[in-house]
Order: sequence, then structure tokens, then C-alpha cells
Amino acid sequence: MAKPEKVEIVEVGPRDGLQNLQFYVETGKKVQLIRLLAESGIRAIEATSFVHPRAIPQFRDAAETIAGIKGLPGVKIIALVPNLVGAQRALAAGVQEISFVFSISASHNRNNVNKTPGESLEELRQIFELPGMGTRWMIRVNLATSFGCPFEGILPDERVYDYVDEVVDMGAKDIALADTVGYGNPAQVRRIVSNCLKRYPERHFIIHLHNTRGLGLANALAAYEAGLRTFDSAIGGLGGCPYAPGATGNISTEDLVFMFEGMGVKTGIRFPELFKAGQYLREIVPGVELSSGVLKAGLPKGILAA
Ligand code: ZN
Repeated sequence: MAKPEKVEIVEVGPRDGLQNLQFYVETGKKVQLIRLLAESGIRAIEATSFVHPRAIPQFRDAAETIAGIKGLPGVKIIALVPNLVGAQRALAAGVQEISFVFSISASHNRNNVNKTPGESLEELRQIFELPGMGTRWMIRVNLATSFGCPFEGILPDERVYDYVDEVVDMGAKDIALADTVGYGNPAQVRRIVSNCLKRYPERHFIIHLHNTRGLGLANALAAYEAGLRTFDSAIGGLGGCPYAPGATGNISTEDLVFMFEGMGVKTGIRFPELFKAGQYLREIVPGVELSSGVLKAGLPKGILAA
């Protein structure tokens, strides 16, 4: 019998989800949310961001959050870093995997981290040279605005491939293509993802999708059909980018799990515990609309409920 297909889901709610809020969520609540997510079977969680606290005050407790979740069994904890200083802080805090983000659109990168993409790549080069890279810690490189930029619109596909080439040359093994503002469509996602997989079959590609314009799951399916197997998503569909005008929620973890499990594709994630995490998120972000369809409507009777 053929082995069932499976995918890996990387939960980014505690970082991408919380970063857009207008109010601070206490460290203890962040830690509890991450623990509940881990209990649902999620094996990779982007827990926080080592960005300058002035830029995003929500993550002024990044080191404390990491300390609070130390020792969660079997869960890879990832922290976002926008620069070398952030990487150093993350590694000092004991993070195992850092997720370096820069934008392939010059205007968005200027807005987001106040650097040219070339300057960001230079910082990335320095991060690759930090001690312990590939042994004590790993790096994942995120190419933001791969499917469109709020300032420059849809960028030529070649721009994505050029930056993939650059980061592969530096040694990147894990590369995330991010639809930061939800401009992507399934044909574009299928084309760019298949070309990246064809070009670098030995690298691990991840897709990071926002549902800003309702195409999140369609894009996820297109990426899956193109052969990609690792997906970022956020509990409740919470999320956004403070520097991307109009950007709202990530694709929701509940909806993504519902889609894959319904198709017979294994995620390793259990709904009862995932709902518990979603309910807890509701409590700690009062007044914030959670866009997840499954969280709102529940599971259809008799489907995946066991
Ligand atoms: Zn995002």
C-alpha cells in the first residue's frame, strides 16, 4: 500500500499573528499559547521575533518568551530575525533555528528594515559565518514579497529566482517564499514553486501565505500540487505585517489542516487540541477578529472530529 502523503505545518501565529496587534500580550500568555499549539501535534513553531523593541514593541520580551518554552519536547522553536544583531540576540537566547527575512522588493525592504536588499544579503552573509551555524543552530531564509509588493506590484518571476540563487550560493538550505501581502494567485504560485523545486531539488522550500484577498488556501493547494510540502500558517488566521499596508491574516492553521486532512494528506495535528489553542487565542486577543472559517463554523459532523 502506498504511504499516505504528508505535509509539515509551521505555526507562525505567535510571531506573525501577534505582531500586528495594537496591544501587548503578556509573556505568560504567549508561552501558554505556544504550549497549547505544541500539544496539538504541531512540530515547528515560529515563537517570536528578535526585532528591535522600538520597531515592534510586542516582541520586547523575545528572550523571555524563548526561556519560557525551553524544553518543549519534540518541537522546533524558530525565531524571526531581521538583521545580524537580531540573530546574535536570538542565538544568545538559545534559539535553534532563526528565520532571516528580507524583501526582494527594494521599496518594501526599505520600509520594513530600512536597508536595500543587497545590504540585507550582506547581513545574511555575516549571519552564515556566526559560530555554530549548521551544528548548534540552523537558518531559514525568507524572501518576502515573492508574489507581489504593496509598492511595486507583481515583480518579475526572475527576481525571485535571482534571490534564490544568491541565498543558495551563501549556503541556504531552507528557503521560504512569502506572499507577504496576499497578491499571489494559484497559477503564479504553481509556476514559481515548480521552477524553484526544479532548479534546486535538494533544497527545502517553504511557502508563507497570507489570505489578504481570499486566495490563501487556493495558493497553498497550488504549491502542494507543484510538489512543495512545508507550509506556514497561523492559528485563527491572525496576522499581518505592520509595514505592508492592508496586509491581514496568514492562512489559518485550522483551515489548512482541514483541507489537507480532508484530502487524506497527513498533518500530524489533532483538532481537539488545536481548537483549545484557538479558544485560548480568542481569550488573549479580545476584540480581534479571527478569520479562520473552521474556528468560526466548527467541523462538519462526523468529519475529522475523532
Ligand atoms: Zn507573514
